[in-house]
Amino acid sequence: VTERRVIAHLDMDAFYVSVELLRHPELRGKPLVIAWDTARSVVTTASYEARKFGVGSAMPASRARRLCPQGIFLAPDMAHYRDVSRQVMALIAELGVPTEQMSLDEVYLDLSGLEFPVQTMTDLTRRIRDELGLDASVGIGPNKLVAKVASDAEKPRGFVMLSSEQAVERFAEASPRLIPGIGPKTAERLRGMGVETLARLRELGLEELRSRFGSSSGQALYERSRFRDSGRVSEERARKSQSVESTFDTDITDPEELQRMIRGQAERLGASVRKKGMAGRTIAIKVRLDDFTTITRAKTIDGFTDDPEAIAATALALLAANPPPRPVRLLGVRIASFADERPVKPPADQTPSLLDAA
Ligand SMILES: [Mg+2]
Repeated sequence: VTERRVIAHLDMDAFYVSVELLRHPELRGKPLVIAWDTARSVVTTASYEARKFGVGSAMPASRARRLCPQGIFLAPDMAHYRDVSRQVMALIAELGVPTEQMSLDEVYLDLSGLEFPVQTMTDLTRRIRDELGLDASVGIGPNKLVAKVASDAEKPRGFVMLSSEQAVERFAEASPRLIPGIGPKTAERLRGMGVETLARLRELGLEELRSRFGSSSGQALYERSRFRDSGRVSEERARKSQSVESTFDTDITDPEELQRMIRGQAERLGASVRKKGMAGRTIAIKVRLDDFTTITRAKTIDGFTDDPEAIAATALALLAANPPPRPVRLLGVRIASFADERPVKPPADQTPSLLDAA
């Protein structure tokens, strides 16, 4: 049974900046940077004027200040951005189609059941502009992967519709990094194999990819480089927990190196949770030893947090209290019990411990 799928990805343009400009119209046309004013903070969003100076998301704020000394720096007001995001999502909910919200400003819509999906998205972006004063970019395709890449292709105010075959052709010379899920490490390994474009990646056979990257990652690289994706738009996916973990090429024994890894992971996790407008209060670490024993340790803290420093401090304390008895092959940090869920056991002063079966 072949079923026609029409998936859209809607991504607000420079969301935090655009929301700030609504209440600070005097800053329009100026290089505006939204970043926390702390030593290790990174840029959350930069206006298109600031981007001309080379300022970009996730760049250290200190670097952004050097690149753009005349920039206007504002601290993020997450409560306000969440409010505005709810207004955007409320307009989208009126369509009555399945949606999957990825962050405050990104959402997938499954338009397969609609007679006029393209017109629906044109009308939706017009409503968002007219009623909320905000711009969005839209990608439409047969799956989430095409929709996501298409929504990024012509920002701001992009509206790009592609089949998988058209996406293959249009992005043939793009870096493999264009594909969500292909991170810097995979791209680096591909570069080592002489692969710097998606077209070149598609020349590698399935068997070669599987033997180099493992069966499931190899298969995913094969499918995704062809813009095939069977992932569903799922409201249930609204996450119960978020985590970051890495497996090492060489097992780690040095405690200081483990601490460094945990700190880096906690900071990335905090940044991602914060970007989604979430805050959690259970923080856990996962440690897999060289004999494949997996240990998880969790702690529930007093208040909800999205602060990378607080997540790192708790994760480091858990690691210090549970020094791995053997070399470590995998390390991870997880956060759960988000603010909109019912508070969960265990109580704040108890540290539960689980020993997963390997
Ligand atoms: Mg956006």
